[in-house]
Amino acid sequence: MPGADDLRRLIHFSAHDGRIWLAGQRMLLIHAAALGALRRELIQTIGRDATRRLLLRAGYAAGLADAQLARQVRPKAPLFEVFAVGPQLHMLEGAVQVTPERFEYDADTGHYLGVYRWDHSWEVDAHVRDFGPQSEPVCWMLLGYASGYTSGFFGQPVYYKEVACAACGQGHCRIEGRPQHAWPDGELLAADYEADPMLLRLEDLQQQVETLRSTLNTPDDGSTLVGDSAAFQRALELLRKAAQTQVTVLLTGETGVGKERFARTLHAWSQRASGPFVAVNCAALPTDLIESELFGVERGAYTGAHTARPGRFERAHGGTLFLDEIGDMPLPAQAKLLRVLQEGEVERLGASHPKKVDVRLVAATNVDLEEAVAQGRFRRDLLYRLNVYPIRIPPLRERTEDIEPLARHLIRRFAAQHGKHMIGLSDRALDAMRSYTWPGNVRELENLIERGVILAASGTRIDLEHLFPGRPPEPEVVLGNDGRLAKHPGTDVGHVLDDMVRRGMSLAQLERGLLQEAVQRHAGNLTAAARALGMTRAQLRYRLAQPTQESAP
Ligand SMILES: [Zn+2]
Repeated sequence: MPGADDLRRLIHFSAHDGRIWLAGQRMLLIHAAALGALRRELIQTIGRDATRRLLLRAGYAAGLADAQLARQVRPKAPLFEVFAVGPQLHMLEGAVQVTPERFEYDADTGHYLGVYRWDHSWEVDAHVRDFGPQSEPVCWMLLGYASGYTSGFFGQPVYYKEVACAACGQGHCRIEGRPQHAWPDGELLAADYEADPMLLRLEDLQQQVETLRSTLNTPDDGSTLVGDSAAFQRALELLRKAAQTQVTVLLTGETGVGKERFARTLHAWSQRASGPFVAVNCAALPTDLIESELFGVERGAYTGAHTARPGRFERAHGGTLFLDEIGDMPLPAQAKLLRVLQEGEVERLGASHPKKVDVRLVAATNVDLEEAVAQGRFRRDLLYRLNVYPIRIPPLRERTEDIEPLARHLIRRFAAQHGKHMIGLSDRALDAMRSYTWPGNVRELENLIERGVILAASGTRIDLEHLFPGRPPEPEVVLGNDGRLAKHPGTDVGHVLDDMVRRGMSLAQLERGLLQEAVQRHAGNLTAAARALGMTRAQLRYRLAQPTQESAP
């Protein structure tokens, strides 16, 4: 190897501004222990093979950067001395001691063969300290450096293999490098340097887990669709008829009415029940991902598309695809969806040929699609395609008679889930639930009941304060709109009247006490207090403003 003084002169310690330079490249003097700790954590977190490839690529980047320097530093030297800049910088950087054993290069044919001996590899030190002796080579970052440097130096892909490694008990490490085409497994070697599809695989797995989890939580046999009200039964009847056909179904209804449950039930009742059920929430997917998610991607379709992936349409082949919140689908995806529905085939992004798919589509929306069409946010032709068989699922407040059976069903489910025995609901609780407007519909009811099951003691009834914590309990006696005392449903007003008569309390005193108590319980909120007393806010204000009198006028 030539002398390395010229290389040493390239290093500048610029301590006053916190930087180190190697001929214009910023360098770091970093503890081998720090890098070793990082390496250990990577192996423990993402596994040995993923770490190996990650470090190969990191080393590759460093080697490539040093290759830019070589010809600048020794412009007139013989080829090997110019090339030696890389191994010598690698030594100077403290990575490893390099001893060249063979160096063949033919500029005309591109032939290259390089064999180098490595001693004192920092990676052997770090790896053996953490994991003990190995059966496979471990000098990944070093190997990446050699590949990156040589590829950059010769301007063609050159890859190294570590044919011996000190971590495996050999006296030293040895690497052998050839151009990609000269290795029988050159493509495999090259694949190690491609960005990792691991994150994509994780994403895939996550989706599968979600699908499985929702399948486990909700039996799809329709037993979760509870309700005898005419409005609800009408919707169920429509669903039952649709299940016998292949018709595209559009489910409409407010948020939380149970559109996905309807879609799953439709699938379970149909001849496709043994096929997949794939759900997509169009509002939850980022706009720029929705097309690749739905229709799939071919390898290399865009930067970062390292592997081909089927879209949800393909995954739903033979089954049902549920597109929730379809009103939020961006217009370009709408155009593509329309084409899929017309042709019955999907084309992955970057693909040259479409693929036949057999999918029943169920779409759902809680926005008025006609209105979205009028505003230019939704395609009219797509709406026509989807709106063949609309089913409107009624909101909970339009089927109050279903609240009680639904609540009982949910109490059983959540009690079993939380290992509790519940007797049921108190009258007060049931009464409050019937008069509530349920903006979040069945989903809100589910949340409320689950909370109630958790808060109430085992073996008791779920009461009002378990369902609506933080809401003060309703007063037991209310003043009717006619100004008379009225019994609040579910309570006994007799003892209050007894007490009043016995103590000779005036009506005005009682009224005033009652009004003040209500206002206090609602923390001064007159509207809430008035509602609790069954009167208007104006009435309450008026009565509170009356001077206290000892006796009624
Ligand atoms: Zn090694």
